[in-house]
Amino acid sequence: MPKTAERLSELIRKDDPIIKYGDPVLREVAKPILKVGEDMPEFIGRMEEIMRQANGVGLAAPQLGVSQRVIVYDTGDGLQAMINPKILKSSGEQMEPPEGCLSIPGLRGIVKRSDEVVVKALDENGRPIRVRAEGYAARVIQHEVDHLDGILFIDRAEPESLQWITAEEEEEEGVVEE
Ligand SMILES: [Zn+2]
Repeated sequence: MPKTAERLSELIRKDDPIIKYGDPVLREVAKPILKVGEDMPEFIGRMEEIMRQANGVGLAAPQLGVSQRVIVYDTGDGLQAMINPKILKSSGEQMEPPEGCLSIPGLRGIVKRSDEVVVKALDENGRPIRVRAEGYAARVIQHEVDHLDGILFIDRAEPESLQWITAEEEEEEGVVEE
């Protein structure tokens, strides 16, 4: 992926590099990575840095203006990166916790998600991986994969559950920011 790591180096110098709602890139279907290049680990490293700076638990490349199928997340078990993730199986149902999105700061809502997913993807070195996740991690993966398809959590949220909250409330209530 030519120049993307370089591009992120530029972005990361900004105070807030995360693309916000209203930018058309968030509505694009991101392109698959045809060949995992040597700069992918660096690209992933920068995504991680930006995600952590923003106190997020997940981040998708389109949120940095890069319309390619790469996601990262960390739900407490360390960083997981996925290239070209594909959800193979999903089952069950979960409603909590409320979701938020780093691209739509201050808004949260209840989103019904599958409780368990099986995902295939490539890792940062281009090796095939298969991940089974449940609960919180499954929620985050579904949110990030949605980003790659131009879908935002507000599209799936129970409409009456959507509400604006302050940064303090966000911290207290443990909203999942992705
Ligand atoms: Zn998001």
